[in-house]
Amino acid sequence: MPPYQLGLWFNQYVRQTCILCQTPYGYANLEVASKQNFVRVWIKQRQMLICMHCHQDIHWRPQPFTINITPHLQLDIISAAAYKNCIRRAIIAFKYREDLSSLPLLIHAIRQLPRPHGCHTQNSCILPMPTTTARLRYRGFDPVFILAKYLAQHWQIPLWQGAVRIHDTGRQQGLSKEARLLNVQGAFALTQSPKVRHIILFDDVATTGASLKALAQPFEGLNRQVKLLAYTLAHGSS
Ligand SMILES: [Zn+2]
Repeated sequence: MPPYQLGLWFNQYVRQTCILCQTPYGYANLEVASKQNFVRVWIKQRQMLICMHCHQDIHWRPQPFTINITPHLQLDIISAAAYKNCIRRAIIAFKYREDLSSLPLLIHAIRQLPRPHGCHTQNSCILPMPTTTARLRYRGFDPVFILAKYLAQHWQIPLWQGAVRIHDTGRQQGLSKEARLLNVQGAFALTQSPKVRHIILFDDVATTGASLKALAQPFEGLNRQVKLLAYTLAHGSS
């Protein structure tokens, strides 16, 4: 069971108010539903953590982008939402202030990500962006890992932690595109060889894609061909 699951169930099945506007689900959603789709909206809402009004206000699924790892290897980066407004605030609050009240919105965002075509439990794994042990020790929790656990649950694809950060790169925030790339180059290494064909890299925010590119680089050296994909919660400038 992913961490904080009980709090989410409480919110979803007992409290039943939108975590953003605090409106009870029944009122906020059934207004948007016409007589024909009333049942569909009601069923959908049972699986949601925010109301339809708030859901429709968020910029979901921004345009995916592609970065070149090598001249022959490209990485597609797909994000659940644009990094702005309530999504941006929730990520910052969760990541830097360990504010657990932001987690339901982030999980709602994770649930907007469609499972990549052809990927399933047996042939794929999710690699969360590794943190350094020093950072973990200092902060006591790993926000990207927690979010990745929900993605793993949502897609029914296992997590794989076969990569480590070999030097602490500090925060990428505030650096230019070139500086970000230099900062993370050679930052990761594989500790084991993946047993599956599809490796899904996962991070909370992609800005230029520099960290994901750095995380993808150690896979170049593998004898066996792996297919890399990258997913993030949000995409946009920090
Ligand atoms: Zn709402």
